[in-house]
Amino acid sequence: MRKLASIQRIKNIEPIEGADAIEKASVLGWQLVIRKGDFAIDDLCVYCEIDSVMPDKPEFEFVRAKSNRIKTIRLRGQISQGICFPLNVLPEGIQVEEDLDVTDILGVTKFEPPIPANLAGEVKGMFPSFIPKTDETRVQVLQKVLDKYEGIACYVTEKLDGSSATFYFKDGEFGVCSRNLDLLFDESNSMWKFAVENKLEEKLKQLGSNIALQGEIIGEGIQKNKYKLKGQHVHFFNVFAIDSYSYLSLKEAKQLLNDLELKMVPVLEEGYMLESDIEKLIAKSKMRSVLHADTIAEGIVIRPVEEMTDKYSLQGRVSFKAINPDFLIKYDE
Ligand code: AMP
Ligand code: MN
Repeated sequence: MRKLASIQRIKNIEPIEGADAIEKASVLGWQLVIRKGDFAIDDLCVYCEIDSVMPDKPEFEFVRAKSNRIKTIRLRGQISQGICFPLNVLPEGIQVEEDLDVTDILGVTKFEPPIPANLAGEVKGMFPSFIPKTDETRVQVLQKVLDKYEGIACYVTEKLDGSSATFYFKDGEFGVCSRNLDLLFDESNSMWKFAVENKLEEKLKQLGSNIALQGEIIGEGIQKNKYKLKGQHVHFFNVFAIDSYSYLSLKEAKQLLNDLELKMVPVLEEGYMLESDIEKLIAKSKMRSVLHADTIAEGIVIRPVEEMTDKYSLQGRVSFKAINPDFLIKYDE
């Protein structure tokens, strides 16, 4: 699971050109600005990732103006992601150990974007346990995975900024889910509307096996419609075989989506040899959207062409995201 707040070592500290009072620190694969003199190389600190929501305590005072949420900022031209706090923000008696997850100990929670009304819907139940929820690990915490898989053939897709949608057909029952919930049939809900208009129930039924399709719904009324689209569209990024509890490979997923006349997320590269340099991967994420040339892309998602599992990765799957820092600055995230 993602550790929003954890004990980490400051790997490096470098000066920032033209700045006297601040310097650049490296923690995990993240870069952030610290006050000069607060930390030295190799110090342990409590590192809080972006999207951490800090509790109302005096030691976290300076994020309060931003609803206590830690965001990506730019200081003197330097991108800064996350905050390092001294170990004394921890309650007494904690066994200090590198990589220790202190999210709950500190009362840090994750920022969740509000779900717009057209996507909320009436709840049928929890997200089905027979399908993994959609999620991607940030490349900044995956140095070990990158080192291990360096050089393997991957594909790169554009990460779209919409809302996660899952459509499944299992044992005769068709369902539609938002990121965390199974939703009751409701034609005013954008995901159900998409399912009806695209005959998804018939299409999945006709495949003759238990299956789930997962994609991102984008367009009018969703995340400020950054791609300036008419209507709403789903671009799929997962095809999941429920009975074998496994994802289809790129080739198989492409074929199936094509047969069903459904769109995939934009595939940017197919024979990409994975590089292990996090900074390079972040640089790769700095691009415009394929869907709209004036729009800064949210980032990229990288996966092996043939599905691979690894205990270090979320849901045991080798797959991760590199978020474009320019996007985070532009949209104040
Ligand atoms: P985040 O939006 O930062 O929580 O990142 C994970 C989410 O990105 C997933 O749950 C998907 O809903 C979404 N997503 C958008 N585009 C893609 C893509 N190309 N591949 C995988 N996930 C994607
Ligand atoms: Mn998202």
